[in-house]
Amino acid sequence: MDDVDLNRDRLALALEAAGLDLWENNLLTGEVSRRAMKTIATLGYPEEEQWTCVEQIFQLIHPDDRPRVQQALDEHLSGRTPQYRAEFRLRAQDGSWLWFANYGKIMNRDNPSLAQRFVGVTFNIDDRKRKEDELAQINQQLAEKNALLERYNTALERLAATDSLTGLANRRRLMELGANECKRTARFSHDLSLLVVDIDCFKNINDAWGHQVGDRVICAVADACTGRIRTGLDTAARVGGEEFVVLLPQTKLTSACAVAESLRQTVANKQVPTNTAGTSISFTVSVGVATWQGHAMSFDQLFNNADKALYRAKQAGRNNVQVWDEAA
Ligand code: GH3
Ligand code: MG
Ligand code: MG
Repeated sequence: MDDVDLNRDRLALALEAAGLDLWENNLLTGEVSRRAMKTIATLGYPEEEQWTCVEQIFQLIHPDDRPRVQQALDEHLSGRTPQYRAEFRLRAQDGSWLWFANYGKIMNRDNPSLAQRFVGVTFNIDDRKRKEDELAQINQQLAEKNALLERYNTALERLAATDSLTGLANRRRLMELGANECKRTARFSHDLSLLVVDIDCFKNINDAWGHQVGDRVICAVADACTGRIRTGLDTAARVGGEEFVVLLPQTKLTSACAVAESLRQTVANKQVPTNTAGTSISFTVSVGVATWQGHAMSFDQLFNNADKALYRAKQAGRNNVQVWDEAA
């Protein structure tokens, strides 16, 4: 056995061990000078299958993969890439598709008269590709599930922060927003005003007309509060059965009083239908106003102060606005 034979045997052994299938094409004639036998066998074609021209093999490539393979070939043939590499599906004898990879190189590129041999290897990557596909599918499902969870979470968060009867913020949400607003107010030395709004003699409305009408009245007052606020800046919340808070950031006491008075009048002018056809009722609210003007105060304190003012409004005969007064 001479050196050439020995080297050929070594190469064959190495290729076999690495699962590589050697091929060679003649670029001038388009002739397949060495066929990738192992690949032919894997695809289930008989050994005698005449894969003698490159075009014939190209026809076995999945139509979706052909442009990619063509591009990889063109890039190498024109010298833009040092090696040709492509991954593609080949049609097996039974009609199924199997994934393969191709690495190739033009030999003797520096010598144009010899640069006609295009040599490379093919190897089966079907297992890897299927696992990749499975993984991609699992990831896709995970991403969809995550998106769904996020939507549920957002909906839950909104539910947890919202009063179900009126759609206003609930007490919990108000306390969060209020605490944040207090921090912002301290940082930027703004004013922060708060109204506590309570329906007058609401128990009488409930007793006389029933809970359903009572609920309608609550919703009418909620609408009046919403109608008075600046979107994205103020907050209207329902904090108890028939008690509401309107939080007014960057609002001075005089402006807050104007909002409170206008809200009181809006409510007093409302009519809510009862369950007796043709009859409706009117009702009023009392409002307590407190403003934090720069010096340190917690949201609880501000809330308490407005509540004290509300108590005075009730004592003063209801359907009126009172301001918290430190001296009082
Ligand atoms: P005041 O003018 O002093 O505020 O008197 P009021 O009757 O409004 O106050 P009170 O606290 O005595 O009564 C509040 C009533 O609100 C008692 C309760 O049955 C009723 N209530 C609380 N939550 C709801 C609700 O969600 N729907 C209805 N319809 N009534 C409620
Ligand atoms: Mg009340
Ligand atoms: Mg009350």
